[in-house]
Amino acid sequence: MSKPQHHEIVVIGAGICGATIANELLCRGKSVCIVDAAHSPATACSSHAYAIAHPHIGRGSPRLLRLTRIAFLLAEARWGKLWDQHGIFQPTKKDRVFDWAEMSNYLQSLDLDESIAKPLDAQEAEKMCGIKQSGVWLPRGASLNLSDASHILLQDHERLTCLWNTKISKLEETNGKWHLLGNSNEAILSADKVVVANAMDSKALLSTIGIRLPLKPVRGQLSIFSIKKDDPWVEKLPRVGISGDGYCLPAQLLEDGSYRWSVGSSFDEGEDDLGPRDGSDAFNREQAQGLVNFFEGDTKSLEKAGDFVGVRCVAGDRLPIIGALTQRPGIFLATALGSRGVLWSALAAKLITAQVLDDDFALLARFGFAADLLAALAPARFFAGALAAPAALASNSKPIFPSGPKAK
Ligand SMILES: Cc1cc2nc3c(=O)[nH]c(=O)nc-3n(C[C@H](O)[C@H](O)[C@H](O)COP(=O)(O)OP(=O)(O)OC[C@H]3O[C@@H](n4cnc5c(N)ncnc54)[C@H](O)[C@@H]3O)c2cc1C
Repeated sequence: MSKPQHHEIVVIGAGICGATIANELLCRGKSVCIVDAAHSPATACSSHAYAIAHPHIGRGSPRLLRLTRIAFLLAEARWGKLWDQHGIFQPTKKDRVFDWAEMSNYLQSLDLDESIAKPLDAQEAEKMCGIKQSGVWLPRGASLNLSDASHILLQDHERLTCLWNTKISKLEETNGKWHLLGNSNEAILSADKVVVANAMDSKALLSTIGIRLPLKPVRGQLSIFSIKKDDPWVEKLPRVGISGDGYCLPAQLLEDGSYRWSVGSSFDEGEDDLGPRDGSDAFNREQAQGLVNFFEGDTKSLEKAGDFVGVRCVAGDRLPIIGALTQRPGIFLATALGSRGVLWSALAAKLITAQVLDDDFALLARFGFAADLLAALAPARFFAGALAAPAALASNSKPIFPSGPKAK
C-alpha cells in the first residue's frame, strides 16, 4: 500500500466554511489540501442558493452585535460579483414602538453609519422599500448563493489538492503530526495542521480525540412560492429582502408575469431530517404574511414551486466556534455557523488563517478583532478551566455551557 500523502495544511469539509478558509490560505501563498465525504463542494447545508447577510441589529449580546458588524464588512469585501446587494429591510417588532431618534442613536452606538443602517418611519419605508411599516433599512444587505461561491473558491489552483468522496472518521496524533483515518481505520492523509470545518460531523470527529463539542442540529426549510400575475399578493410582494420573524428575498418577476418568491425558514431544533415537509411550507406561508404585513392575504395563492432543506449546526451559546483548539495543538475549528453561514465563513477565513499562519495579533486587530471577541469565538470557551493556564486545559475537555444571553 502506498504511503498516505502528507500536507502541511488539510481542511476537512468543503462547504462554504472550509472552501472560504482554503481559499484564504491559498491567497496567503500556502498549499492546501481540502477533503470532503461528498463528490463535490457544497452538497450539504451550503447547497443553499438564497442566503442573506446583514449585520445583526436586534437584541443580542454586545459581542454578537460587534462580531456581526465585523463579519458583515469582511463578507461584503470578499464576494465581488456574487454578492447580490438588493438591500434588506428589518421591520420594527410588532410589540415595539418605533422611535426614530432612539433608533438612530442605537445604530450609532453600534458603529453603524447610515450607509449600513438607517431608521425609516412607515412612510419613508413605503417609498424606499415598498413596505408600509417602520423599521431599519440596511441598504448594503445582500444575498449569496453559497453553492456557487463554494465552487468558485475551490476552482483549480496549482497549490490546491481536492480529495472528494473521502470521509475522515478519526484523528490521531503522533510526534506532533496528525493522521486522518477512514472508516476502517485506514490512513488517508497526514498533516501538520488540520482545519476541522465539517459542521455537525465535527462533533463525532473530535470525539475521537477526546473533545466533546456542544453542537446540535437545527433543521430548516425555505419555501419557494409562485404567485400568479393577477393575484392580490402581487401588490404586496417586496422589491427588497426582509429580515424579521423569518426572512424573504426580493420577489422575482418571471417572463409570463408571475412571481417567484423565496421565504424562510423553519427552525426545527434537534432535528436533522432532510425530507421536505408540508408543515414547514405552511409555517413559511404564515411567516410570509407577517413579513409583508398582509395577514388577510390568502395563503393558498402562495403555490409551492420549490424548497431548500438543510441542517444547521448550532453551538450551545449560538455563536460559531472558530479558533485553535489549544488542548490539541495543530487542530483548528471552524464550525457551528448556525444561520449565519455567509458572515461567519468570511470571519472564519481571516481568523483561522491568521492562527494557522501564526500572524501577529496586530494583524487581527486591524480587522477589529479585540481579545474579548476572539475569546467569545474560541473553542476553549466550552471547556472547564478555560481561563486557567494552558497546561490545565490539556487534561480537561468536558464541555460547559456559558450562561450569557442567546444569540438569535
Ligand atoms: C433553511 C436554512 C436557511 C439558512 N439561511 C441562511 C441565510 O439566510 N444566511 C446565512 O448566512 N446562512 C443561512 N443558513 C446557514 C448556512 O446555510 C450554513 O451556516 C452554512 O451552509 C454552513 O456551512 P458549513 O461549511 O459550515 O457546513 P456544510 O455546508 O454542511 O459543509 C460541511 C461539509 O463537510 C463535509 N463532511 C462532513 N463530515 C465529513 C467527514 N467526516 N469527512 C469529510 N467531509 C465531511 C460534508 O460533506 C459537507 O460538504 C441557512 C441554513 C438553513 C438550513
